[in-house]
Amino acid sequence: MENFALIRSARLIEHLILLSGLRKRDDLLSSITLALSETTDVCQVEIYNLVQDGGQRYWLPLTQIIKGSGVRFLSDFLRMDLDSMLPDASNPERLLCLDRIMMVRTPPSTLQARHLTRFPMMLSAGATPWGVAELHSEHALQESDITAATQLLTLHSNMLDLLDYSECDALTGLWNRKPFDDLFYKIMPSAESTEPLSEKDDLRTPVPDSSFWLAMIDIDHFKQVNDTYGHLIGDEVLLLVARILKRSFRVSDRVYRFGGEEFVVVLRCADHDAAVAAAERFRINMAEFDFPQAGRITASIGLTQILPGDLPSGACERADQAVYYAKHHGRNQVCSEADLVRLGLLKSDIKVGDVELF
Ligand code: GH3
Ligand code: MG
Ligand code: MG
Repeated sequence: MENFALIRSARLIEHLILLSGLRKRDDLLSSITLALSETTDVCQVEIYNLVQDGGQRYWLPLTQIIKGSGVRFLSDFLRMDLDSMLPDASNPERLLCLDRIMMVRTPPSTLQARHLTRFPMMLSAGATPWGVAELHSEHALQESDITAATQLLTLHSNMLDLLDYSECDALTGLWNRKPFDDLFYKIMPSAESTEPLSEKDDLRTPVPDSSFWLAMIDIDHFKQVNDTYGHLIGDEVLLLVARILKRSFRVSDRVYRFGGEEFVVVLRCADHDAAVAAAERFRINMAEFDFPQAGRITASIGLTQILPGDLPSGACERADQAVYYAKHHGRNQVCSEADLVRLGLLKSDIKVGDVELF
């Protein structure tokens, strides 16, 4: 018995060390799923993310491991099917455990799991949980299992916290340039940057008929806002623009602040018209927003499709050209680089894979 406890402690330490050396969110997710299954007496582990889209929250299943097999990625924000996501209310018991560890006895399943223990997953102590880890076991989990799982989850949240610190903009909380580059290579099937999983274990299939678009957003006459109302009000405007961006785009889109008053959104859309419509929705939300003190402020938006073999700098440069055109033709508008080229208003001199300055 004592020997068993020693082996378990050694395995726990091994997993804690492994987790602390990881720097990518996917790697951390896969590693915590495996660690939970190998350091506790469970037959299955699943991790769910609670995501917000519009006014509704949904459960997004992220990973699963069945004891004895490898970790399987089930879905992620890039590839999830927005129409088939289950609303949070579809699993009220899971919702209940967002702020505490909860054990329930489940009806017998094919996996001999009779017990289900749920742990909230959060960024730091006291923060709002972003998901739930579900541990299925044949017997009720022992106190030592719960301690091991809690320690692993705490380290995992500390690691996520550190990643956020280096990848998020301090003023707005949006992602910065670093995760943008990572994401860019992730959506290029030919240039996957992380260790490829076997196809069988990665069930995050690309959603058919969708493509990725890059929207470059630049606030109009922002210097005037600073000059008239001061930098503090300017900062408040940036914060509010970040909020408008978040509520204007869907959960499958990613919003970044590249610095200053320039924002970038990576959109997953069915086609060109859908991408223009999404960017237009943000433009209108922004133009209609009544900023405290500063009143009405608009933005100019340049849009381009992210193509296979593209480089982050090349796509940004194309979107930038469309922003430049918008700025010189009245501002407060969405300009599509493809449309401008088609109409002969812009020369298509930036080819895919053309520029890489970083
Ligand atoms: P345009 O419509 O042509 O884009 O005009 P603009 O005045 O927005 O353009 P410009 O790029 O000349 O000005 C951007 C200004 O953004 C300059 C700088 O003072 C301000 N700025 C950049 N970063 C920050 C920030 O973090 N906080 C605040 N308050 N202002 C910032
Ligand atoms: Mg600017
Ligand atoms: Mg500007």
